[in-house]
Amino acid sequence: MEALCLGCVLAAVLTWGFLCFWDSAERMKTAEQAGLLKSGSRTLLVIAHPDDEAMFFAPTVLGLARLKHRMSLLCFSAGNYYNQGEIRKKELLQSCDVLGIPTSRVMIIDNSDFPDDPGVQWDTEHVANILLQHVEVNDINLVVTFDAGGVSGHSNHIALYTAVRALHSEGKFPKGCSVLTLQSVNVLRKYLFLLDLLWSLLHTQDILFVLTSEEVAQAKRAMYCHRSQLLWFRRLYILFSRYMRINSLHFL
Ligand SMILES: [Zn+2]
Repeated sequence: MEALCLGCVLAAVLTWGFLCFWDSAERMKTAEQAGLLKSGSRTLLVIAHPDDEAMFFAPTVLGLARLKHRMSLLCFSAGNYYNQGEIRKKELLQSCDVLGIPTSRVMIIDNSDFPDDPGVQWDTEHVANILLQHVEVNDINLVVTFDAGGVSGHSNHIALYTAVRALHSEGKFPKGCSVLTLQSVNVLRKYLFLLDLLWSLLHTQDILFVLTSEEVAQAKRAMYCHRSQLLWFRRLYILFSRYMRINSLHFL
């Protein structure tokens, strides 16, 4: 038991030391995948609720900004579960501004067909049609969204993955448009980010983004824009969650 504790502490110290000296903070499995992330790509982040972009995707947004991607964002709801939709739409625009996505490239769908509600299944075909239209009109090269686990398991997150998966498997995305999904991890890995980073570095994933300490501060500023959501457990989340520091992603 003592050896295990010592091993964990050692791993955490080594990882911390590694982070301090790590300047180039993205890793790609193959040159081909690196090519899919080429500079100047028009990338669309697809989320379900205002705050998903900061709470889960900040390392990806800031990592792709380093690679000079032209980011835009499509949010499928106003986050109106507690009737705070109008406030939350404004908070999303402020957060996007902090993350470097201008208001002109943020689209929020405030529509009763897509309620912010884990108990409602969004219609896959309807989600897919809107998403595809957005991809075509904006000439998108790369779509980024949740994986099958939806990171938090929220059914609205999973609905986005289901729609993207359907479009991809039916070959409906325009030629040259790739899809990246954010890897869901178990609760332990979610909150032990230093040990998780070591694990992530040793195990295969297509893309890994790790934020520098300045970028973590930027991600936190984006998260703090969502003032209506900053309950005590969210403040703990900001302190300890891997998703404020690391994103592992897979290509479909
Ligand atoms: Zn969400």
